[in-house]
Amino acid sequence: MKAIYPGTFDPLTNGHVDIIERGSKMFSSLLVAIAENKRKKPLFSIAERVEMARESLVHIPNVRVEPFSNLMIHFMKENGINIVLRGLRAVSDFEFELQLALMNRKMYADCETVFLMPSSKYIFLSSSMVREIASLGGDVSCFVPSPVFKRILEKCKEDCYDNQK
Ligand code: ADP
Repeated sequence: MKAIYPGTFDPLTNGHVDIIERGSKMFSSLLVAIAENKRKKPLFSIAERVEMARESLVHIPNVRVEPFSNLMIHFMKENGINIVLRGLRAVSDFEFELQLALMNRKMYADCETVFLMPSSKYIFLSSSMVREIASLGGDVSCFVPSPVFKRILEKCKEDCYDNQK
């Protein structure tokens, strides 16, 4: 069985990796699908997010990373996938996730959503928190895989340089 794990991954965190590692053991293949999501004005470009995720997930052979910019159910059909994997951290995630799962099923009747809970140490971790801490000069090395940490440091240097101009 093939599954898709969609998200913005701006950037990929250890919480995402935890869900991906669990999912990769349940499904024959797992497609990590990175949404371009211009509406959210991501910090990292789609190319950067894909590259960081590929480098961080290279140790899992049945995981593939691809970008997408169309409707997710269309992308799923193009790839012959009908299972969506999502991570659930707290009750606060549930309402949005339920709405998303039911909307997807309304548009694609065979679409099933599977929720996995991460290890408790990642329950409070989010990409937005990582971006916020990093932008204020905090150390995020324990929250993200090392290829992501490297890019965050580079991005901070670029920003400092831009501010000096
Ligand atoms: P989106 O833009 O769809 O919210 P994200 O990249 O933020 O995309 O998240 C993708 C998926 O990963 C969502 O199902 C989200 O709930 C889940 N997720 C995010 N952070 C964590 C975490 N720390 N532990 C488990 N799941 C997570």
